[in-house]
Amino acid sequence: MNVLRIEDISFPKQLFIDGGFVDSAGGETFPVVYPATGEEICRVPWARQGDVDRAVRAARRVVDEGRWAGMNPHDRERLLHRVADLIEAHADTLALLETYDTGKPIRDAQAVDIPLTIQCFRYYAGWPSKLKGETIPVRGRFLTYTMREPVGVVGQIVPWNFPLYMAAIKVAPALATGNAVVLKPAEETPLSALYLAQLMAEAGVPEGVFNVVTGDGETTGAALVAHPGVDKIAFTGSTAVGQQIMRQAATHIKRVSLELGGKSPHIVFSDADLPAAVKGIVSGIFYNQGEVCLAGSRIFVQKPVYEEVLEQLSTAARKVTIGDPFDSGTTFGALISEEHRQRVQHYVGVGIREGARVIEGGRIPEKHSKGYFYEPTVLVGEDNQMTVAQEEIFGPVALVLPFETTEEVIRSANATKYGLAAGLWTQNVSRAHNVAKALKAGTVWINAYNLLDAAAPFGGYKMSGFGRELGEEALDLYTELKTVWTSLR
Ligand code: NAD
Repeated sequence: MNVLRIEDISFPKQLFIDGGFVDSAGGETFPVVYPATGEEICRVPWARQGDVDRAVRAARRVVDEGRWAGMNPHDRERLLHRVADLIEAHADTLALLETYDTGKPIRDAQAVDIPLTIQCFRYYAGWPSKLKGETIPVRGRFLTYTMREPVGVVGQIVPWNFPLYMAAIKVAPALATGNAVVLKPAEETPLSALYLAQLMAEAGVPEGVFNVVTGDGETTGAALVAHPGVDKIAFTGSTAVGQQIMRQAATHIKRVSLELGGKSPHIVFSDADLPAAVKGIVSGIFYNQGEVCLAGSRIFVQKPVYEEVLEQLSTAARKVTIGDPFDSGTTFGALISEEHRQRVQHYVGVGIREGARVIEGGRIPEKHSKGYFYEPTVLVGEDNQMTVAQEEIFGPVALVLPFETTEEVIRSANATKYGLAAGLWTQNVSRAHNVAKALKAGTVWINAYNLLDAAAPFGGYKMSGFGRELGEEALDLYTELKTVWTSLR
């Protein structure tokens, strides 16, 4: 494939504040690295507190002057549709930026990241004219009604695994409901957010409504969280940082919504359609190199089919095509960084020490000495309390555990601090729905895995966070509900 280079894509690699691209005040920058080669591809500004302050002030002005929330809702809809149109028109470039930033296969960026992003903008583009309140039948002679108002200035902090889509999930509903946004992409993957800023400007989104600050978590992200001019923080990332953000947000009783980590159970009952289940397991844990919050990383297999599933899973894991992310045949790219690869490798070592057995992978592939590649790895074990059964690895490491009864697997599946997602495979309809009800997870897939849709709410139980993104429910995250009482005497 003839690959465009990053230099061929012209867009300002600068902060986007108040409708313009600017350098950070101190002129500091940090490198963006292509994970499949480890090479620096460009540099972007490192926003410090002063830069974050500039962005928040720009957003604050929009909110205080009511410029965006006060716009005719049909005009806001048209603008958001225009943003979706432009993303669609620039889909190839955006997919390429995602691959350069993350090391994921370009075919995945093209088939999943960008289409889901477009769908998300289109879905929320339909909402501005439909944000209704209610009249409430209260006692006495009063007219009492509710209305939704934007929360105000929203700080949005996203991770590196699906950079543009993670941003879209937050930006589209926030803008549809009339908020102004300051987005901080992950330091590993800032490019698609900056490109989106350019498209926002081209679409005619007013100055200050959408701002992007690039930088790390400890300075840029923390400055956004601490800023008194920010009314709400929407965060997707690790549970540890989510806890920190929640603590900090308490100072100003800032609204917070958190999409955090997961250790999702993926259950195969002995009556399942095994080839379909194995396909689901493989995509559940190896899709996007396992760098997916929803990854089905704990695979529970009922004893009568345990050996057969292991065999099919090993074969399928060997067939995963690791390689150049720009090669259209590649299904498995590089991990995000050397540090992350070491973390994944460390976990595999811990698993072995605690009694797990490696039946596939567990190594850095020799063929790919450049870049941060790691083999799709299958561990088998008996104990759901092992570190690798309890901690999120966020990489391509599956742990397969056998089980006997439905009651037992429900207990084990729920025995984790996380509750983001779960999957189960069975042809027994009653069992499917009984187990789905018993699982403590925000999303349960029956005979499927890894499905998302802009219209279907998504979020976590327990330490996987709170608040539901996507669907109508996300409107609650970005609006305050006001109740108005009027005396009719
Ligand atoms: P991370 O928590 O280290 O970073 C996420 C974002 O937070 C980045 O933009 C980072 O710069 C910023 N950040 C870090 N420290 C901060 C601080 N002190 N204050 C403010 N911002 C800060 O997570 P990561 O390693 O980038 O992503 C992996 C994690 O994200 C995994 O745990 C994964 O499960 C989770 N995740 C969850 C979802 C979901 O929807 N639930 C989706 C994707 C990823």
